[in-house]
Amino acid sequence: MAWLQPRSLTEALEQLQERKPRIACGGTDLFVNGQRRESERTGMDWLDLRNVAELREVSRHEDGLEIGAAVTAAEIWGSDTFSIVPALQQAAQIVGGWQIQNRASLAGNVANASPAADMVVPLVAYRAEVRLAGADGSRSVPVEEFITGPKQTGLRKGEIITSLFIPERMLGIPQIFLRYDQRAATDISIVSVALVLQGSAGQVEWATAAIGAAAPKPFTLNAEEEHLWNGELNEDKLEQLGDLYSRRSSPITDIRASAEYRRSLVGTHIKRAARLLAGNL
Ligand SMILES: Cc1cc2nc3c(=O)[nH]c(=O)nc-3n(C[C@H](O)[C@H](O)[C@H](O)COP(=O)(O)OP(=O)(O)OC[C@H]3O[C@@H](n4cnc5c(N)ncnc54)[C@H](O)[C@@H]3O)c2cc1C
Repeated sequence: MAWLQPRSLTEALEQLQERKPRIACGGTDLFVNGQRRESERTGMDWLDLRNVAELREVSRHEDGLEIGAAVTAAEIWGSDTFSIVPALQQAAQIVGGWQIQNRASLAGNVANASPAADMVVPLVAYRAEVRLAGADGSRSVPVEEFITGPKQTGLRKGEIITSLFIPERMLGIPQIFLRYDQRAATDISIVSVALVLQGSAGQVEWATAAIGAAAPKPFTLNAEEEHLWNGELNEDKLEQLGDLYSRRSSPITDIRASAEYRRSLVGTHIKRAARLLAGNL
């Protein structure tokens, strides 16, 4: 077994091609999975991406914000650079505890594809893209498409996630992330919501929301359904929106909550998020 520590993307891609190692970043998901399943930890090389310079960069472009794959949750909530994406900062601040936040990378949260992953939820609401590099070149895929199901993604052999890209229209406008869990610390989401809303409570220009932990992967409504947000945001409208998101969810029953309870929490949290945002409009 070798622990490979490339310093550049070129070096990382070469090592991935030649030695077919398992990709690691913060290791917070990998090593928990490895404790559960021996097959996930034996007889393989590891490619540690934490020191790859290109994956640590954050760049503001004309058309959006690009966040390097290895940027950690602590870096996201702790830096003013990210004050234009407060919903992502709020999600980053609730991941695990401090020790986990210091290691947990944004790309790791996406690639692990847990239905309850927190940072993925604002990314899906933002219509963010996963940017990937491989031996055959680079490509971009919307986060919502890249995650194909619980713990499943469209990552191809020989590919690395290089960054997450958030489009300009989502930056610096009112937004919020809410998570419902049992302990409010070092816990897993029972339901989570990210809402982005442009306009005022009297006249919403457009809004979009993503729901986490209430379906095999975080989901949004389709563009036609999202039009329901537009116009005056009154209590009747909120009831309809809460119902719609609840109906679109397909949660499971597990040790944390029943499917029924989760479905009702979806509606409650959409309404709560909208009221909290509307108060600041
Ligand atoms: C105690 C504890 C509490 C936690 N609490 C939360 C929580 O509250 N909310 C939450 O969302 N998560 C939580 N997690 C899960 C975890 O911390 C996050 O999912 C984290 O963001 C994963 O990032 P990582 O860098 O540690 O990924 P790793 O464990 O290094 O990797 C995870 C997966 O991503 C792949 N991967 C990583 N980087 C790349 C890349 N650049 N390209 C391609 N594939 C890549 C790896 O191969 C692996 O399959 C918790 C974990 C622990 C141990």
